[in-house]
Amino acid sequence: MDSLGGFAGRMLEVDLTAGTVSVKPLPREMARRFIGGAGLNARLAYDAIPVGISPFAAENVLFFGAGPLVGTLAPGAGKTNFSSKSPLTGYFGTSGSGHLGFVKYAGYDHLLITGKASSPVYLEVGDEVRLRDAQHLWGKDTWETTDLVWSELGRQWAVASIGQAGENLNRDANIVANKYSAFGKTGMGAVMGSKNLKAIAAYGSRGIGVAEPKRFMKLVNDMAAEVLNAPGIAEFRHRGTLSTLSDMIAAKAYGSVPWQNCQQMADEELMYGFDLEHLDAETVRHGNLSCLGCPVGCKHFMLLRDGQSMSMSCAAAPVVCFGGNTAVSGWGPMYRCAELCNRLGIDYGSASCLVSMAIEMYQRGIITSSDTGGMELDWRADVVHELITKIALREGFGDVLGDGLLEAPRRIGRGADYYAMHYKGIGNSVGDPRPGVTSWLSSLITNVIGHAPGVLELEGKPLEKVERVLRRMGAPEEQIRGIVDSAAQLDYGPLTRWTEDHVFAVECLGVCTFPFNQAFGVNRWAEVYSAATGIDMDDQGMLDAAARGIDMKKAFSVREGFSRNDDGMPARFLSEPLRVHGEDRPPYEAEALDRLVSNYYRARGWDMERGDVKPDRVAELVRDGASQAG
Ligand code: SF4
Repeated sequence: MDSLGGFAGRMLEVDLTAGTVSVKPLPREMARRFIGGAGLNARLAYDAIPVGISPFAAENVLFFGAGPLVGTLAPGAGKTNFSSKSPLTGYFGTSGSGHLGFVKYAGYDHLLITGKASSPVYLEVGDEVRLRDAQHLWGKDTWETTDLVWSELGRQWAVASIGQAGENLNRDANIVANKYSAFGKTGMGAVMGSKNLKAIAAYGSRGIGVAEPKRFMKLVNDMAAEVLNAPGIAEFRHRGTLSTLSDMIAAKAYGSVPWQNCQQMADEELMYGFDLEHLDAETVRHGNLSCLGCPVGCKHFMLLRDGQSMSMSCAAAPVVCFGGNTAVSGWGPMYRCAELCNRLGIDYGSASCLVSMAIEMYQRGIITSSDTGGMELDWRADVVHELITKIALREGFGDVLGDGLLEAPRRIGRGADYYAMHYKGIGNSVGDPRPGVTSWLSSLITNVIGHAPGVLELEGKPLEKVERVLRRMGAPEEQIRGIVDSAAQLDYGPLTRWTEDHVFAVECLGVCTFPFNQAFGVNRWAEVYSAATGIDMDDQGMLDAAARGIDMKKAFSVREGFSRNDDGMPARFLSEPLRVHGEDRPPYEAEALDRLVSNYYRARGWDMERGDVKPDRVAELVRDGASQAG
């Protein structure tokens, strides 16, 4: 690897126990084999995190990774990842978001944070690196913390902080960057909290060079123009992620929104008021917000017209999580739930599942006011707000729920696990698989634990479209035939594998997987990667590198005890019919799920019985780049 554009070429190691920082060269061959960012995080974590330790142990390592396109002019290249042993799942955890790519401008591709500070600190990663006292920030929410750090360092700094949830080792705690971009799921905020690390602030003046500037600029300018002219982008800029629900909301057809802890699907009557007329009457859009390097700017601020200011940048997920699953009515109260989660630093997908689990169990008499400290639980906004706060602060019954969807039911007992809607501990925030499994399959069975790159919604789509999408993703022709021609039924096992490889390749580059992974095939990204880094890479090379990272994550989790049994779904989905539009749909069949898991394992080349990566493959991955580190 002669030329290495795109990368900053250095890693920063921070030992919070000793209070020291040191600079290490990027292991170049390892970076080439795993692309960078989330993929390289996984490879580094496999070596650095001792097997079997508590996620809250000082020896656990929190990795931050920014891929080779982060900080360049590639469209959407602002996405970065935190990875560690997850306190939520006990396996590999990773989570991506925007706004912290400034670490690259300070001269680092990766941060490796270990140890535990004796009192709260925050990490300043700039042209100089410092650990700064953060005792005055402890107890503050993410917005207050960000404002205080900005007042100390300047508004130009990117600030990723934890709220009270992370401080209290809430297993669903997230890391929130610049107030509005959450590294959600898998509890990375709790790992930060366990290290007494309140925030990371980044800013720098180093540029990121690319190997072939002319070729690179032609490619990225063309791609930016194509994205901005793509169908649906204008609406995406106008309504943000809410545009993904626009058709549903416009048609008042809410059949993909789970209702009250997935007891049924929502309908027009239940979701009264969640329509575009009420949205425009109750809220006003107040400007766009872009992640680093994004020409789209899908995030936007919304203010309530009722005089109370409220800001929200990610507009779609709260409709599912709080409008449906916790049955909070009205755009304002619903968005306030999400805002509260962002401020307290808790993932709102899991928070909504914890709250809805508690309310349903209370209504069924499984828990009573003696469990809840006298609180009466009901599907009301004030109850949901109070429960979210108690969970984040670990107050009263909130302390139990703060242990997450795996541990909290164990603490409660009384069959509580039946009411916990999660996959591997991560709240089911995307919906319910019973009406159609396509977009949920990735969440069900993938080892990509964290922001799961969902399988594209291809169910019910013409097979020509499926073929087109698969070809763009780089799936080999014989695989495409196998997926599409299986008696005119899509074979979701290989489909999931190819989607994951494609999406993960883009994620490792540091590009937002949404909407850029849908706009461009992996061949286009391979060209951009080659022009940026100077490393010749074709589409198959990108997919192979992504598959290495996926296998590495799986191998890490298997080493921690992950088995085929973890690739399941909540018992409710396998045992209860689901009411959709007044009709009962049958439960999901356990045998069908088992077949899906087998098909997926087969497509990945994993062991069919245990679901692990075969030993020779692990040995090959561990050898990858190890001798050339540095
Ligand atoms: S599309 Fe949205 S989430 Fe993705 S990089 Fe752009 S602003 Fe960020």
